[in-house]
Amino acid sequence: MTRAEGLLSKTFELPGIARQNRARSGQGVGLHGDKGRQLNEHTLSMRLERVAARVPVGARLADIGSDHGYLPVALMRRGAIEYAVAGEVAMTPFRAAERTVRENDLDDRMSVRLANGLEAIKPEDGITAISFCGMGGETIRDILDSGRAYLTGRERLIMQPNGGEQPLRQWLMENNYRILFEEVLRENRFDYEIIVAERSGPVLYTAEELYFGPLQMQERSAAFVAKWQRRLKQKEKTLNQFLRARQNVPETKVQALAQQVRWITELLG
Ligand code: SAM
Repeated sequence: MTRAEGLLSKTFELPGIARQNRARSGQGVGLHGDKGRQLNEHTLSMRLERVAARVPVGARLADIGSDHGYLPVALMRRGAIEYAVAGEVAMTPFRAAERTVRENDLDDRMSVRLANGLEAIKPEDGITAISFCGMGGETIRDILDSGRAYLTGRERLIMQPNGGEQPLRQWLMENNYRILFEEVLRENRFDYEIIVAERSGPVLYTAEELYFGPLQMQERSAAFVAKWQRRLKQKEKTLNQFLRARQNVPETKVQALAQQVRWITELLG
């Protein structure tokens, strides 16, 4: 449980929700917290709701890094998916996911597995979609890369990286995945990105497209523009600090940051 999770305890229950779902202290709160309401398999964070909206109806879903299993359990309760695997590498969240599944009487339609990354997937699962939420983009990339043997190439990938979007997009491109949908959303003062991709054959993105997201660059939603306005301020401040302490900062680092500032300035210009 993150510190933010531990700080939150207020219970919010939808009318008609069974007593079994009484909020457990500090449980079920999104990665960066969600002040004012308890999140669980009934009430997802906006972040997970947006991910849920991208899971095809009737999917056989593997949710990797599932934690409490709220995303697959919520989708199952809504009748939106046919079958789910909740994969977890750590024992405490694995047990939490097992409990969520048990309390929702879903043991016959969901498997909770203690496994590293895509090792949670078995061929007989017939998985058609894989979600990765609340992990760094590099972690998602590494899970995909080391788990290639578990992919058929026909799965839709629905990813909500916490940072590291650029290296994740790079992996997608290098492995013939086309980005079909992207979204930026803001919740609790954090900017989140959702990236949906499917294997399609060779695809080429420019360096800027890998940095900003090829579809987001075109769409330029209000949330996307606001995110990059905030990022520009932060990066300009850091660049100025680097320039003042020039001897102590590697030149490559200064140049990389200066290039990002140029790209963002051009994007917003
Ligand atoms: N997906 C949930 C969400 O978005 O709210 C939980 C996010 S939580 C911050 C990240 C979870 O990913 C943790 O429970 C962690 O144990 C799990 N995780 C990290 N690396 C993993 C891996 N290689 N395989 C499976 N789970 C992993």
